[in-house]
Amino acid sequence: MNGLLIILSGPSGVGKGTVRKVLVQDESLNLAYSISMTTRGPRNGEVEGKDYFFVTKEKFLEALQKNELLEHARFVDNYYGTPKDYVQKLREQGKNVILEIETNGAREVIEKTKGDKGVISIFIMPPSFEELRSRIEKRKTEPERIINERLEKAKKEIGIKDFYQYSVTNNTPEQCAEDIKKIIVEHLK
Ligand code: 5GP
Repeated sequence: MNGLLIILSGPSGVGKGTVRKVLVQDESLNLAYSISMTTRGPRNGEVEGKDYFFVTKEKFLEALQKNELLEHARFVDNYYGTPKDYVQKLREQGKNVILEIETNGAREVIEKTKGDKGVISIFIMPPSFEELRSRIEKRKTEPERIINERLEKAKKEIGIKDFYQYSVTNNTPEQCAEDIKKIIVEHLK
């Protein structure tokens, strides 16, 4: 049987990555993380082929043109997309695949997979907007202009959370991962 496709979204800085890492460690869930393609440069500590496939804009547009992406989006200054074959193969192997993607791409997947009961969409909310701002600022990896654009985008993203089947709040990564686990387990029954 095909594995689930689990769409995980939430504003930049909400801690999706940390929550996802906690979830993936739980072997009982048989999860695999879908590694995206991006034109953004790597942040400190990010690894090619593990965090992202870092590509040039030309390469990205070529993949898009060849219809190799399940979805894609432009986020702030860069392109991000999900390699289609990779996700399909993992699901066929029975893996439950996590897509950690922003809302425009998520909407594209939700629309493309309408009627597929194996698709779950979950939106992660910050405890508050102020908390989100402080998390993004603490990261200190982006200049002021980018931080502000990310916060503007976050406001818009929070506004469309009702588009998702579920929303959970990230008070702590462990609690949030636990809440998501319950949702996944329910769908695996
Ligand atoms: P970041 O630059 O912080 O790694 O990612 C920026 C945003 O792009 C985050 O919300 C992240 O979840 C999202 N993102 C990462 N990969 C993809 C992807 O393949 N498709 C889409 N639509 N969004 C992605």
